[in-house]
Amino acid sequence: MSVAPRTTSAPPLPATMEALVVVEPNRLEIREVPVPVPGPNQVLARVRVVSICGTDAHLIRGDYPGFWPPSFPFIPGHEWAGEIAALGPGAARYGWAVGDRVAGTSHDACGVCQKCVEGRYNLCENYGKEGLHRQYGHNTQGADATYVVHGVKSIFRLPDGLSFEDGALIDPASIALHTANRGGVAPGDTVAITGPGTIGLLAGDCARVRGAGRVIVVGRGDRLAKAAALGFDTVDYGAGDPVAAVRAMTGGLGADVALECAGVPEAVQWCLALLRRGGRCAAVGIPVRGVEVAMQRLVLDELELAGVRASAGEMRRVMPLVEQGRIRVREMVTHRFPLGRYEEALATFNDRSSGAIKILVAP
Ligand SMILES: [Zn+2]
Ligand SMILES: [Zn+2]
Repeated sequence: MSVAPRTTSAPPLPATMEALVVVEPNRLEIREVPVPVPGPNQVLARVRVVSICGTDAHLIRGDYPGFWPPSFPFIPGHEWAGEIAALGPGAARYGWAVGDRVAGTSHDACGVCQKCVEGRYNLCENYGKEGLHRQYGHNTQGADATYVVHGVKSIFRLPDGLSFEDGALIDPASIALHTANRGGVAPGDTVAITGPGTIGLLAGDCARVRGAGRVIVVGRGDRLAKAAALGFDTVDYGAGDPVAAVRAMTGGLGADVALECAGVPEAVQWCLALLRRGGRCAAVGIPVRGVEVAMQRLVLDELELAGVRASAGEMRRVMPLVEQGRIRVREMVTHRFPLGRYEEALATFNDRSSGAIKILVAP
């Protein structure tokens, strides 16, 4: 049985749109560019809110040359929500219609390789291959624009209870849940988290969703104060050795699980050092250089270290939890800017004294 596409009278689309173009590392321009055209099984979405991610800041600085993005000029942005403005061929067969409210995520994987078939599409073995795999805002045009094209695999229907602002934070919330999942948080666990940015703070909520008995956040400054305000125990690494502090808080035993969300080498080392014997660390932060790991302890205490890349299947799972206030995305939002003031928004994001955690941009 085939499903008849819903008919909708769509307003005519403009030929051009406003977009944030990274001309070369650290050179940003707001430009008028052509509105992209959705291909087979893709939609064109009107972006209503896009949020600034730490990855955007790195990518704009040119920290991943030749990879994210493959070349400049480039339009970044991958945490967004909006509504469908046009359908490419075949998209209606998946139930999509013009006007549907959606949240986007970055990975649009091949769906065919062994990792995709196993549900681990974040590890698609055809990553970046033309026509098989896209990662929006990383190797394909992103959502820092009035419109963006996405494949149907990377859009998720927003429930009525979630706003576009909430929707722009579903992608980072899904990554936070994937981090807690990869950490294998079990009921009653003590979970230590390094890096109280958006992912770290949301990972605290996700650890609780999985039944953590106690969440200890390691950080400093305004972000650590935010962690305390959200009800987590805190350790200020500026006040002394954070590993000793976590051990002191856990009767000398250490944490069952560590979630590394800072992306700096010291934090990876702290996480491994503060684990209880047999503990597990899931690392979502990406250090720009290698990290020396205390292998003797890892071997003899049977520690586990798991990488975490984006999310894989958690977009839909986090939505009801966000609706119920169990994953507190709204608490993350500190600033809002129009797309035309992106440079100011990014400077605010990069300035730790601004108190910025999550900055929302409206194209
Ligand atoms: Zn992101
Ligand atoms: Zn694949």
